[in-house]
This record gives sequence, structure tokens and C-alpha cells, in this order.
Amino acid sequence: MGLFRSLQALLYGLLLICPVCRRGRMSRSLLALHERCPNCGVVFERDPGEVTGGMAINMVASSVVGVAGAIYGALFSGREMAVVIAAIVVATLGFGLLFHRHARGLWVGVLYITGAIYER
Ligand SMILES: [Zn+2]
Repeated sequence: MGLFRSLQALLYGLLLICPVCRRGRMSRSLLALHERCPNCGVVFERDPGEVTGGMAINMVASSVVGVAGAIYGALFSGREMAVVIAAIVVATLGFGLLFHRHARGLWVGVLYITGAIYER
């Protein structure tokens, strides 16, 4: 798979669109993904442990948000440290919740690039 097609698969995954058919919506609800693509029927995460890939992406992204918030809060905000810490905790947890589906979708893109998901 070429670089452009790989980046496209990652972008589709991030946007919660099936990277295989590029039409099916991966999102089932605010926090969950469909097991199969509603359009082409491909299974997004074939193995039960595949969810950990998305969790790892979400953990790294949330950590980046937390560290960036800590640096900004400590150096530039001028607020009390308790307020900064509370804001960082809320922002990091909120980001993690909102990004959960997208991280899993991104992981589905990685799985597609590596050949771990495929059309029937
Ligand atoms: Zn599909």
C-alpha cells in the first residue's frame, strides 16, 4: 500500500469512516463503534485484543494534551496552581472521552494498512 493510500486510510479512520469501502460510518454511539461496517460488512477489530491499540493511541494523545496544558498552565496562565491542575485534569479526561472513538478509528486505519482487516 502506498504512502498516499496509507495516509488516506488513517484519515478515514480518524474521521470514523470505514477505510475499506470509504462509505460506512464506524460510529455507533458517542462512545462505541460498530463491530462491522454497516456498508461493506468488514469486521473492524477482528481480535478481541485489538481495542488496546486504540486505547494506546488515546493514552498517548491524552498525555500530550495533559503535558501541553501543564506547560501552558505553569508558565503562561498566571493562575493558581490548584486551578491549573483542576483544569488540566478536566481537559485531559474530557479529551480522552471525546477522542476515544477517533483513536479506535485511527487504529482501524492502522489495521487496514497492515492487512489485518480486509474485505470478505
Ligand atoms: Zn466499509
